[in-house]
Amino acid sequence: MQSFASVAPISEALPRILLVDDSHERREIIGASLLGDGYEVRSLSTLEGVIDTFESFEPDLALFAMSSGIDGVSLCGELRARALGGHTPVILIGEDADEVSIARALLSGADDYVTTPVRVIELSARVRVQLRTKRMLDALTRIRAERDSFRREASHDALTGLNNRRALEEAVAWAMGRGDMFAVLFVDIDHFKSINDTFGHAIGDEVLKAVAERLGHGMRPQDMCARYGGEEFVVLLSRAGQMVATAVGERHRIRVASMRFDRPDYPAKVTVSIGVAIYDPAAPDAGSDSFLRRADAALYEAKGAGRNCVVLARPTMPAVRPPSARPDVSGQAGSVRVTMRAPSTTQPPPDLELSPRSEASSSIEREFLRRLEARRTSLPILPDVATAALRLASDPNANMLELVRLVEKSPPIAARFLAIANSALYSRGVAVSSIHIAVVRLGLGGARDVLFQLSYEAQAAGLQRYREAVAKSFDRSVRAAHVCRAASAKIGVQSEYDYLAGLLHDMGEAHVYRVLDSMPDRPSDKFVRELVGRYHTTAGAEVARAWGLPEEIARICAAHHDASPSTPMLRLVMLADLVVDASFDDAVSFDPAKLQLLGVTDALATSLLEIARAASAS
Ligand code: GH3
Ligand code: MG
Ligand code: MG
Repeated sequence: MQSFASVAPISEALPRILLVDDSHERREIIGASLLGDGYEVRSLSTLEGVIDTFESFEPDLALFAMSSGIDGVSLCGELRARALGGHTPVILIGEDADEVSIARALLSGADDYVTTPVRVIELSARVRVQLRTKRMLDALTRIRAERDSFRREASHDALTGLNNRRALEEAVAWAMGRGDMFAVLFVDIDHFKSINDTFGHAIGDEVLKAVAERLGHGMRPQDMCARYGGEEFVVLLSRAGQMVATAVGERHRIRVASMRFDRPDYPAKVTVSIGVAIYDPAAPDAGSDSFLRRADAALYEAKGAGRNCVVLARPTMPAVRPPSARPDVSGQAGSVRVTMRAPSTTQPPPDLELSPRSEASSSIEREFLRRLEARRTSLPILPDVATAALRLASDPNANMLELVRLVEKSPPIAARFLAIANSALYSRGVAVSSIHIAVVRLGLGGARDVLFQLSYEAQAAGLQRYREAVAKSFDRSVRAAHVCRAASAKIGVQSEYDYLAGLLHDMGEAHVYRVLDSMPDRPSDKFVRELVGRYHTTAGAEVARAWGLPEEIARICAAHHDASPSTPMLRLVMLADLVVDASFDDAVSFDPAKLQLLGVTDALATSLLEIARAASAS
């Protein structure tokens, strides 16, 4: 028998190969060839025990026959569906069938197909090619895991699992760059040295972990809790002003103080002191250092004031505001003392926020923010199939069939999916009748994009008052998605998320409408527009993070109304917004200043207009 025995096998340890074939003769021939090539071979003549063998033998490659007794395609599908064997390549051995059958076999998740009678030299080479690919994929997986672990170590504290100081400082610098109001809480354990001295360092560590756990519990996805140093923690609250930040600080203080270990070798009670500083873009701090120093100074004051309390730092440069509107509630020069160790009688923190708006609208806004914050109206639910699509589309070993099965499981989603796949923009004139073909045609990335589109679309359902506004926002978003996809190559953005970035950058609007819809009062249309304008960016980022979308998309949600684009993807989305706005007018002229800011020509923007209009029509 001929084989490539002269060439060393692929790895030091003998690669293991599982052969499932009901033909005795073929098993003998193939088995001998594989053994000759230096592999460890396990042969089965029936389907019985295949899955068990797969789990115990852990083959590096599997060969399945396609015969009357063994359906290699189904077997392969079953392995992939059970996510068994990770990257294990599967080679099917079957008759020289028609091309559709072979294509179907390959699309079921098999990696190769060889025809009978088996030519052993060719099979030997094919096996080696598959093992080589597997080894590269394994290496890629390992490198990715290592990278993720290094990334995690670089940004996380080993003892508590919280973010570390570096990650926090980066987040603060980023938040300042964004230009939104936000807050930090400096939280320091009181008399921690004496906890160490009395109970020992190991118990001290347990106390640190318990406090970290309390601080991080129930945190919103857009916030961050970090271990800043020894027994000092910092909580970053995005989009929080004085009222929210001091209330959250107070909640943390009470939560820690009410913690009980109920063990004699642990302290009976642990308390923290908290300094709060607000970053106000209207009166910005000179830099992140001086901003953090203000919070630290407020913490220092809290210690001086007896500990177990929250102190709010005054702004460095008080903004010019009407004198009557800013009462000095503290009588102190540098900071505002919020509470003192009296949880049961704690007054709500004084509302120091100023609003030029009328009393009625500011109370509506406050209620709106409270609901947004408390998630009274919970975040929209992303169907599992969209989550799965997001994962599969970024997995080099993903199996399309897994997604096909998930889509087919939900008839309403399957129906919408087919409808979109058959719409003018996707079908290119060829109708598809099955989810399988639609997914093959669109690819996993395209299928993911369609699934997110229909998840987003579904959000308008159930809204009473703002259904029309959400539908309009959705229409604009689909236009933007198509423009982003078409424009990405033209302006040199290479991202697999171009469509999603366009589609989802404004999805916070729907969330704002959803919160407004849950409120008893109905604000004026003008005020609704103001609230949508003010809050849809951060709300969108929140939804994006809750949905597990890449951080890049969350940032695009948050930053797409910034003065100028800071990343190529933001530029893409801002261009799409410009084009979509224009696509509603018949006679179009683009603002040259905007085109210049985005670095695109009038001709390029104009060429995208038709795409925006066609997207809406479909
Ligand atoms: P105050 O109320 O003024 O904050 O007093 P304190 O005792 O908490 O503050 P001080 O800064 O004097 O002491 C902090 C102590 O925290 C000293 C240090 O040994 C301890 N510490 C720092 N990191 C760790 C750690 O990782 N584990 C343990 N167990 N202790 C730590
Ligand atoms: Mg301390
Ligand atoms: Mg300290």
